[in-house]
Amino acid sequence: RGFDGPSIFGHPRGLMTLFFTEMWERFSYYGMRALLILFMTTAVVEGGLGFDDKTSGAIYGLYTMGVYLLALPGGWLADRLFGLKRSVWYGGIIIALGHFTMGLPGILSLFGEGHGNSLTLTPLDTTSFFLGLILIVVGTGLLKPNISSIVGQLYHEGSSKRDAGFSIFYMGINIGGFIAPIICSSFKEVDWHLGFGVAGFGMVLGLIQYKLTAGNLEGKGELAPAESPEEIASRKRLGLFTGITVVVIAALIFLMFQDVISINASAIAEASYTVIGIVTVLFFIYVIFFGGISKDEKRKVLAIAILLCFGALFWSGFEQAGSTLNLFAERFTDRTILGWEIPTGYFQSANSMFIIIFAPVFAALWVWLAKKHLEPSSPMKFAFGLILLGVGFLVMYFAAKIAASGEMAAPSWLMFTYLFHTFGELSLSPVGLSLTTKLAPKKFQGQMMGMWFISVALGNLVAGIIAGEASGGTEEAISQMPDQYMMIVMTVMGAGVLLLLISRPLRKLMGNVR
Ligand code: GLN
Repeated sequence: RGFDGPSIFGHPRGLMTLFFTEMWERFSYYGMRALLILFMTTAVVEGGLGFDDKTSGAIYGLYTMGVYLLALPGGWLADRLFGLKRSVWYGGIIIALGHFTMGLPGILSLFGEGHGNSLTLTPLDTTSFFLGLILIVVGTGLLKPNISSIVGQLYHEGSSKRDAGFSIFYMGINIGGFIAPIICSSFKEVDWHLGFGVAGFGMVLGLIQYKLTAGNLEGKGELAPAESPEEIASRKRLGLFTGITVVVIAALIFLMFQDVISINASAIAEASYTVIGIVTVLFFIYVIFFGGISKDEKRKVLAIAILLCFGALFWSGFEQAGSTLNLFAERFTDRTILGWEIPTGYFQSANSMFIIIFAPVFAALWVWLAKKHLEPSSPMKFAFGLILLGVGFLVMYFAAKIAASGEMAAPSWLMFTYLFHTFGELSLSPVGLSLTTKLAPKKFQGQMMGMWFISVALGNLVAGIIAGEASGGTEEAISQMPDQYMMIVMTVMGAGVLLLLISRPLRKLMGNVR
């Protein structure tokens, strides 16, 4: 059967618990993200933060980068200190607190605190905003990687049911991602902070559900109890050390955000980009030359490094959904239908909606092609992902031309872009993580998985930086938009074609992995 314990619809009952927890967690993430860049760029008199595009894009990039980057310590802490199950619980609590912190000025304004509709921001506005973002980053780092690991643990090693389990789980992600932007953007029409609060409320529902149905997990994801007094002592030390580190780093980042970030966000974003890039390169050099692995394994690690570069490029385009494209929906899209103006954030549901519709189609397509012995290799699927991403941005090129001519673009332009981007995601994303794990040497399994998260993090960061430049914030910037989209088209399409060309030698590097 591929798993132990009671089942539901042919899958372990624990999957249901994790499905709904992750659905609500993604609800909170994508619900808030739909509002994030809009909130930052909206004028203070209209209730926003009134940051310029460059700053807003950089903060968006740093935040979404952080969410994925903290998956690394999050996974590590779960393995050594909390166990997976408790990490998910703590992570969810911290996430909910983060959203409520962001919503706080809304409640306090009822008592006459905060800037309300006045012309200047108060410290409360920025403090609650940045503190909330930091809490969500930390909480997601604890929750997101570990909940996926429990899904894996529900099934026996090598069970064919596991892939199906992950596909179902991915549906949960996207149901959350589909409903959240619509609900949170609707509440935002009343007050921005209400939108943030509703995102947090979703996470609370997820937590309640998780607690009530935790029995379904039947002990999966628990840390083995410490065996010896030394082990207990070492866990205590690790706990204390982690606690102190978190407080110190949080305090530092917080101070930075308060004074430096809002002035210098883009410099920090660019520095982060350089630092992560260098660390990643050094890491791969270390593994290949000093990792003590066989020749075959070295080739495979090189293949991972190459694929992850293309992966990062993909995410840097794809994750502009919540930044550049969100602002395009706000500024240059005619959102009026029958006299009603569609809230900008509704467009953020498009990707998840298309995933729900087309994921089964793509799954069937691969099976069908495999039957005909035509299934593309993994590097080719990666290349298709990039090319489809490029097609999506080509659509945006034409939409930007309309905007540059001073007219509003029809909503269908954005919808087609999201459709192509979703096709790209369906082609690239499922292969990425599984390929990384298959190619990784046994010794470096965990770290290579971490590298995948880093490539996603880097992509998110760049998606924010680009939004700071290409969102048409000024008259001059509007006229540059078509060229900027064309640049993106050329870059990602060029990369896709290059990958097609090198897919044969790349497959040689991959050895027995397809
Ligand atoms: N939409 C998916 C999720 O939120 C994947 C996002 C990603 O890997 N960049 O889990």
